[in-house]
Amino acid sequence: MPDTHARCIVITGGSRGIGRAVCLEFADPDTRIYFNYASSEEAARITESLVAEKGGTAIGIRVDVTSETEVIAFIKRIMTETGRIDVLVNNAGITRDGLLVRMKEADWDAVCDTNLKGAFFCLKATARSMMKQRFGRIINITSLVGVTGNAGQANYSAAKAGLIGLTRSAARELASRQITVNAVAPGFIDTDMTAALSKEAALAIVDQIPLGRAGLPADIAGAVAFLASDKAAYITGQVLHVNGGMFTP
Ligand code: NAP
Repeated sequence: MPDTHARCIVITGGSRGIGRAVCLEFADPDTRIYFNYASSEEAARITESLVAEKGGTAIGIRVDVTSETEVIAFIKRIMTETGRIDVLVNNAGITRDGLLVRMKEADWDAVCDTNLKGAFFCLKATARSMMKQRFGRIINITSLVGVTGNAGQANYSAAKAGLIGLTRSAARELASRQITVNAVAPGFIDTDMTAALSKEAALAIVDQIPLGRAGLPADIAGAVAFLASDKAAYITGQVLHVNGGMFTP
């Protein structure tokens, strides 16, 4: 029998970084968390243990968001086990940086497939059950550079800008069923994704942040929790910038 009493939260890319922080933010005894990851088996088990330490339940499953078949099977499994999905957080993302003139088609495709098409697959697979429930919260993790652009990140900026367009269209399509769709746009957050930068490059970015520090994954998780809460019931189609004051839209 599905466990229809528990609130059910689905997070893509929950093995590390921001996704793990979002899992921890939602960890409580009345919530079942499902997350996926691409390959970090060990990190996924750590996320599960950390959630369990907070009294919650998290189940991490290896699912490639660029495969629609895998995404559909993932969502079907969750629906069989819980009977509902209350919140979907599309967080899985990658970068393959390089100057535009040298960018390989494979790097363009990998970034757009993961950051944008992956979110579309998850949204599509989940929306029908949320429509039946007449309730849902969908939060897409875009990026500051999806709004500002960034040299060396044409693929990533385009994918993240596309995710904002997807957010706004889905918000309009799903609003009549009381499903909200919003995006969170992080600035510079301390995770494996940004760890690849040199110390000098990282310091130069922090210099431009009015709050004087890089963001923490928990800073983003707090914004996601707000958009998933009843307090955000009248907010849809919006982009919430969480960037320490680096940019004002
Ligand atoms: P991260 O530490 O590199 O973690 C990325 C997560 O995505 C991992 O859990 C990874 O799984 C998962 N993932 C990657 N490709 C996947 C795929 N094909 N299928 C399923 N899962 C996949 O990155 P992060 O910094 O936490 O970033 C999280 C999100 O925030 C991304 O969308 C990123 O673009 C966005 N963001 C980050 C920053 C920043 O400064 N860090 C700023 C703006 C926006 P594995 O562990 O298995 O690889």
